[in-house]
Amino acid sequence: TTRTRASAQPLENASELIASVETFIFDCDGVIWKGDKLIDGVPETLDMLRSKGKRLVFVTNNSTKSRKQYGKKFETLGLNVNEEEIFASSFAAAAYLKSINFPKDKKVYVIGEDGILKELELAGFQYLGGPEDGGKKIELKPGFLMEHDKDVGAVVVGFDRYFNYYKVQYGTLCIRENPGCLFIATNRDAVTHLTDAQEWAGQYLISGGGSMVGAICGSTQREPLVVGKPSTFMMDYLANKFGILKSQICMVGDRLDTDILFGQNGGCKTLLVLSGVTSLSMLQSPSNSIQPDFYTNKISDFLSIKAA
Ligand code: PLP
Ligand code: CA
Repeated sequence: TTRTRASAQPLENASELIASVETFIFDCDGVIWKGDKLIDGVPETLDMLRSKGKRLVFVTNNSTKSRKQYGKKFETLGLNVNEEEIFASSFAAAAYLKSINFPKDKKVYVIGEDGILKELELAGFQYLGGPEDGGKKIELKPGFLMEHDKDVGAVVVGFDRYFNYYKVQYGTLCIRENPGCLFIATNRDAVTHLTDAQEWAGQYLISGGGSMVGAICGSTQREPLVVGKPSTFMMDYLANKFGILKSQICMVGDRLDTDILFGQNGGCKTLLVLSGVTSLSMLQSPSNSIQPDFYTNKISDFLSIKAA
């Protein structure tokens, strides 16, 4: 049986929503910032929520930066956010490996950017690949045999602007030649917009992390374990870490198939903001089956709450 949800309601009583939860999880791109630009009214909104004693947590599927690098980004934008409150899918990959006690004498092959490498290093894991393999080529010719490191016990795939055939072949060999090798995806966002390209991002679809993951699925015929949104890993992780009940969380995001699903998979309240990739007509399209509890234009709508 399919459970049908009621259509999303416009957020009319923000104070009621705010009072009903203890924690807000904010998606980043499209909610807090757009590329490198802060969205209007965000600092004031976060300050107001903190002054009401709400816990604020920030979750992003963008694996190109580490938690520490995001800390800097928040700071640059003038937001007072602690590193410990930031959960990027790069961090999630390392946290997942930790959670399963991935052996420290095994290695991780990375198809992705610097954020993943930084998090693996911080967690004490050995890795290879990453941007460094971006310049590598292989020449397919008779007698060609690619060597791969037999100690690779996991392949982590995320958004990668240095993606190439070498990486596909290397990652595929690790997974196919070793049936125990893990295949982990930071996220599967189909399309995205790049942080430094916000001026034109609205008009163009840019292939997201899902495209790199899809290449590895295609050649290995395996499905990855996703650690980013909408999978439940990060939700469980942070609920555990902070000791919070998921029913006491409101997930705020701009994307239906990652953010809103992430909240719903976790049993949280959900709020869609229209300041990112989803328009009201997309939300209300008959082809969309993901309905948040509420929707509103942007998070600073919290500031114009009606007096009760
Ligand atoms: N992945 C990449 C490479 C991105 O550039 C973005 C957004 O800029 C995302 C994922 C989605 O990020 P978020 O989960 O913060 O919306
Ligand atoms: Ca987003």
